[in-house]
Amino acid sequence: MTDASTPIELPRTFEEFNEQRRQSFLKVKDFKQAGGRLVGYLCSYTPLEVIDAAGASAVGLCGTSDEVIPAAEEVLPANLCPLVKSTYGFAYSQKCPFTHFSDLIVGETTCDGKKKMYELLGELKPTHILHLPQGRSRAHEREGWYQEVVALKEALERLYGIRITDDTLREAARLRNRLRRATLALFELQRAEPPAMSGVELMSTMFAGTFNFDVRAYVESLERLGEQRRAEAEAGGSPVGAGAKRILVTGCPVGGVIGKVGATIERNGGVVVCEDDCGGERTNRFMVDEDAPDILRAIAERYLKINCSVMTPNEDRFVATREMMEKYRVDGVIECVLTACHTFNVEAARMECAVEEAGVPYMKIETDYSSGDLGQLETRIAAFIETL
Ligand code: SF4
Ligand code: SF4
Repeated sequence: MTDASTPIELPRTFEEFNEQRRQSFLKVKDFKQAGGRLVGYLCSYTPLEVIDAAGASAVGLCGTSDEVIPAAEEVLPANLCPLVKSTYGFAYSQKCPFTHFSDLIVGETTCDGKKKMYELLGELKPTHILHLPQGRSRAHEREGWYQEVVALKEALERLYGIRITDDTLREAARLRNRLRRATLALFELQRAEPPAMSGVELMSTMFAGTFNFDVRAYVESLERLGEQRRAEAEAGGSPVGAGAKRILVTGCPVGGVIGKVGATIERNGGVVVCEDDCGGERTNRFMVDEDAPDILRAIAERYLKINCSVMTPNEDRFVATREMMEKYRVDGVIECVLTACHTFNVEAARMECAVEEAGVPYMKIETDYSSGDLGQLETRIAAFIETL
């Protein structure tokens, strides 16, 4: 685990976010040359504490750009989720330094597209696949998942020739919990009217966390950002107009469509007050029981609570989303489904009912990383916000 705490400037705009990502790409080579351990991961179910406890930095590899999709389509079918294609495309075209410099990529059996893509990715890079159960209500599913977390720990021990102890796991859990608390504190600021931050800033900040090698430095930066934004809000300095319609964004991970969806909402009189996706409350509200006698089991249990549509049943997602609608006093819910994401797309029918039963308007958009549907999205989002 890294202890250095070089301050990290967090992005306020989408352009700053892109620039910081570029800078991280440049830094990763030096990090590796200095002997740093790097493990790439994709999914929110990846138990990051185990990677931290191996003394490695965990970097998110989820592809968020359409630039490498033509390369990916030389191998993968075109009618696949852009996140899957983009992730593979970056590895295949060797354009992602994080993928290139990762000692290991940790994948998972979540959706079918990702699961099968990892087999191809495994031909390019050493890959370890976590077998995530389809649900969490049966005891054998929870036990099987715990064994998968044990297997990841053992794989990292073999890879680096080390022993991961309970003490290092507990220390990692404490730091990750601190990160989650700082994230939730930042989200909390969005409850104000007007909220303390633009949604684009919030989304970019969350996504920036996936490509920082230094967890401690990122935590400290988030805590500082929270204090700054709180002070600005208390002084009446919100960047958001008083009448902006408060939008909850739910569905697929939105890292690749921050500019396309987040910015479009905010150009058209809305503000994203909360994110109900992998970078938002869906993932961050669960803590590891740091004092549990079996810390590895506590880590495994924490991750299995995440309410992603790859789980069945997934009732708790609707409950949590409705709680968020109330907490953030949202005017409307926009569900963002990435093209060919069957699990979120099918679950959207139930989400629509859950949201509308609470008396809140709902709209689903399906999109990918291209700019082909920008005009159509702008029209639909503007019309939706107009009706709120
Ligand atoms: S949406 Fe689900 S499957 Fe995709 S990264 Fe998030 S938790 Fe994993
Ligand atoms: S957005 Fe959906 S299809 Fe795409 S990787 Fe995540 S779960 Fe799979």
